Amino acid sequence: MNENRKITVIGAGLAGCEAASVIASFGIEVDLYEMKPVRKSPAHKSDMFAELVCSNSLRAASITNAVGLLKEELRRLGSLIMEAADKAEVPAGGALAVDRDEFSGFITDKIRNNPLIHIISEEVQTIPENGLVIIATGPLTDGALYDYIMRLTGNRDLHFFDAAAPIVSAESIDMNKAFRQSRYGKGGNDYINCPMNEKEYKAFYNALITAEKASVHGFDKINVFEGCMPIEVMASRGEDTMRFGPLKPVGLTDPRTGKEPYACLQLRQDDRASSMYNLVGFQTRLKFPEQKRVFGMIPGLENAEYLRYGVMHRNTYIDSPRLLGPDYSMREHPDIYFAGQITGVEGYIESAASGFMAGLYAALKVLGISLDTELDDRTVIGAMARYVSDPSVTKFVPMNANFGIVAQMPGRFKGKTAKQDKNSAIAERSLAIVDEFSGIISKIKI
Ligand SMILES: Cc1cc2nc3c(=O)[nH]c(=O)nc-3n(C[C@H](O)[C@H](O)[C@H](O)COP(=O)(O)OP(=O)(O)OC[C@H]3O[C@@H](n4cnc5c(N)ncnc54)[C@H](O)[C@@H]3O)c2cc1C
Repeated sequence: MNENRKITVIGAGLAGCEAASVIASFGIEVDLYEMKPVRKSPAHKSDMFAELVCSNSLRAASITNAVGLLKEELRRLGSLIMEAADKAEVPAGGALAVDRDEFSGFITDKIRNNPLIHIISEEVQTIPENGLVIIATGPLTDGALYDYIMRLTGNRDLHFFDAAAPIVSAESIDMNKAFRQSRYGKGGNDYINCPMNEKEYKAFYNALITAEKASVHGFDKINVFEGCMPIEVMASRGEDTMRFGPLKPVGLTDPRTGKEPYACLQLRQDDRASSMYNLVGFQTRLKFPEQKRVFGMIPGLENAEYLRYGVMHRNTYIDSPRLLGPDYSMREHPDIYFAGQITGVEGYIESAASGFMAGLYAALKVLGISLDTELDDRTVIGAMARYVSDPSVTKFVPMNANFGIVAQMPGRFKGKTAKQDKNSAIAERSLAIVDEFSGIISKIKI
C-alpha cells in the first residue's frame, strides 16, 4: 500500500467516524486509532464508537433552525452520523433524539465492516511523522497527546467546563404526579413533565443553591459554556432564572389542575424501549447523593432511580482562528488536520460536520484534486468552517451552529413571519448549494 494513499484518523468519536467514513468513500485507506476499550475518558462509558456522552438529543429537526439545517446538509452530503441518527430516532417533539446504543452500534458496525478502514485499538501519544493525519480526540484529550498538541499549537490552552445531565429509569418516575405532553402540543406526548407549584419550586430552588458540589479540577464559573450551563450555576443567577430556562412552564397544561404549572421539568426519552429518561437541561456538578436529594424534591422524582448521575468535565479546544484554515488543516503544518469539538465547534452535529469537512479535504488532497467550488458561508457547514478559521475572531469561544454566522439573505423580510421566511430562504439557498456540491463530489467517489 502506498502510504500517500492512506490517511490516519485519531479518535473514533463523532468527528473521527465521520471523517473516516468520508475518506473511505473516496477509496482511500484509513488507519483509525481509538483508545477505547483500552482506556476511556471519564465521560465515555461504552466500548462503541461515536458515543454520545450526555444528552441523546441532536437538537432541532426543522431546517428553519440552523442545527436542523446543518443536519439536512449532512444528510445530503452522505453523512454516516446522520444515517445512524435517522435509523436510531426516538420520539422527541420538534427535536431529533436517538437511542444512544442503537446510534453508536450502527456506526461501529459500519466502521468495523468497512474494508478500507483499519482500526487500531491504542492510545496515541504522538502523531505519525509522515502522511496526512486528522486529530479528532475530542474535548477530553489528555495525557501525552494533549502535551504534544500544546507544543504543536504554541501552548495556548483554551478550555471551558461542560456538564452532563442525569438519566433516570422510567419505571421509577411517579406518573401519579408527572404527566405526558409536548410543549405547545408539538410532537404528541413525547415528554414526561414534572410540574411544580410555587411552594415546591421555591423549596427546590433554595435546596439547589445551597447543595454540595463535587470538586472539579481547575473549575471556574467564568469558563462555563452558556449553552450547557449547570443547573446550579443557572439558579445562582436569580430565583426565577430557571423558570425562563429548563423549568419554563409555557405551552404545558397540568391535566390535574387544567392550568399551566408554576414551573415544570421535562424528561426526554433516552432509548427506544423508553425505559430511560434524561432530565432536560439538568446538567450538574452536584455530588451524587445531593442530586438524589435535591432533584428528588421535584414532584414525580421522589423515588427516581439514577441510571447515570450528572457530571462535569473540563473541555479543551485549540485557538483555531490562529491555527487552522477553512479545510481544518493547520496553516503551518498543512498535513495535520483537526476535527471535532477540539477545534472549538460545539455539539454533536457540529463535531460530525467538522469531521466531514476535514475528511473530505484530506481525501481530496491525497487524490490531488482541487475543486473550483466550495461549501461557503451560505451553508451552515461552510459557515462553521469559516468561523473557526477566521483570524479576525479575537476572543475565540466554542460555537454552536447558528444563523448569525451564515451569510445573510439579500432582500428584506417583513411582517409577522419575517424571521421564519428569512430562515426558510437561507435553507433553500443552502440546500441548492449542497445538492450541487454533493453531485460534484459523488462523481469523484468510488
Ligand atoms: C461532559 C460532556 C457533556 C456533553 N454534552 C453534550 C450534549 O449534551 N450535546 C452535545 O451536542 N454535545 C455535548 N458535549 C460535547 C461533545 O463532546 C461533543 O459534542 C462531541 O462528543 C465531540 O465529538 P468529538 O468527535 O470531537 O469527540 P468525542 O466524541 O469525545 O470523541 C473522541 C474520541 O477520541 C478518543 N480518544 C481520545 N484521546 C485519544 C488518544 N490519545 N488516542 C486514541 N483515541 C483517543 C476517545 O476515546 C473518543 O472516542 C458534551 C461534552 C462533554 C465532555
